[in-house]
Amino acid sequence: MEPETVALTGVTVLVRDGPAAVPDAVVVSRGGRIVDVGRDVDVPGDAHVYSLPGHTVLPGLVDTHVHLGAPDGTGLRARLRAVAGHLRFHPRKRRAFLAHGVTTVCSLGDDHAWAHEFRRRTADGRLVGPRVRIAGPLFTAPGGHPVATRGATSRDDWVRVPTSPEHGREQVAAVAGGSDRHDPVDVVKVVQDRGDPARRALEPMAPAVLTAVADEAHRHGVPVVAHWGTPADLAELLEAGVDHLQHLEPRGPLDGWPSGVLETMVARGITLAPTLAVTEPLFDDDTARTIRRRVLDVHEAGGTLLAGSDTGMPGVAPGRGLLREIELLAACGLTAREALRTATTAPAAALDLEDAGVLSPGAVADLVAVRGDPLTEVGALRRVGLVLCRGVVVGGRGHRTSRERRTGFGHTAHEGA
Ligand SMILES: [Zn+2]
Repeated sequence: MEPETVALTGVTVLVRDGPAAVPDAVVVSRGGRIVDVGRDVDVPGDAHVYSLPGHTVLPGLVDTHVHLGAPDGTGLRARLRAVAGHLRFHPRKRRAFLAHGVTTVCSLGDDHAWAHEFRRRTADGRLVGPRVRIAGPLFTAPGGHPVATRGATSRDDWVRVPTSPEHGREQVAAVAGGSDRHDPVDVVKVVQDRGDPARRALEPMAPAVLTAVADEAHRHGVPVVAHWGTPADLAELLEAGVDHLQHLEPRGPLDGWPSGVLETMVARGITLAPTLAVTEPLFDDDTARTIRRRVLDVHEAGGTLLAGSDTGMPGVAPGRGLLREIELLAACGLTAREALRTATTAPAAALDLEDAGVLSPGAVADLVAVRGDPLTEVGALRRVGLVLCRGVVVGGRGHRTSRERRTGFGHTAHEGA
């Protein structure tokens, strides 16, 4: 779909790192990019004008942890839906991300070739969807997650199971170096998880293999993101030099972070996406309180928290899951502004996302207008007025459903609005 000239008027604009919001502002997007932002901005004559008094415009949200291809829910019906969705590149998911203002997602564990095809089709406009960053397959041990837990095998395109350091390097080079079939991945994901000793032990990657995988990714200029479970896993990951951490579970440092960990994270700029949206419903009240405290420890130490929902896991819906994650991060003790940063400027900087998290002339026009002031109340994010992705209106009240259906979300007429 061709981006039109769009003007949002009568809005408050959040400026990156600015001291305050700009009220009564105008945002103009043309050709998919922001061309003007501010108070004394002329509305071009050819612009589609959306008057949005009482709304705040912020950069499109980034969900740093999703599984694009995972089924929505469990059971036979969900599986059948997943097969159909796979063929059509999950129109319901694409629509749901955008409708909630999520304009960039990081795919952390999907079929490698499929994820690249998903990205090609959404990037060139054949399908409407968020911008995609790709980890491709996740690297794990023969007896690790998700091999032992979910029945994945080395034949599946969403996992790699290196059996030696050399094998690991070869497999990383194949995805991080790119090929004639696909671009290099944006990030390499490793799984280092001993499981829950009280319930089920899992095999972590051998430290030599883990280190080889991380080192080879870095040799290709690709950062490494890590799923971790226990403090022992965490220690090995930090030793291997990973860049980003995913999850924070009760198997983690409940009584406090192990000595030196927070200092290492801050010194090396290692981020944490605690993915509370997927784990919090499983916690009892005491555990939830403790986990929140450990999240706040990272923030207070000067570490960087990122919002990642783990969409695709049971109970986490695309789009809504990220809003929940932002609310849970606020509940840990972050201010609303700080919680917003975990899904906008923080991932843009930490993950080197070109143009994301910015509302300034020249930037890609990914933005969301919400009713109210999300700087004082994160719940305002749920009141979406308008969403632009690459300059195209894709969600909110200005969203033209009939045209979306013809041109992008899917190939069947019965998908609904
Ligand atoms: Zn995940």
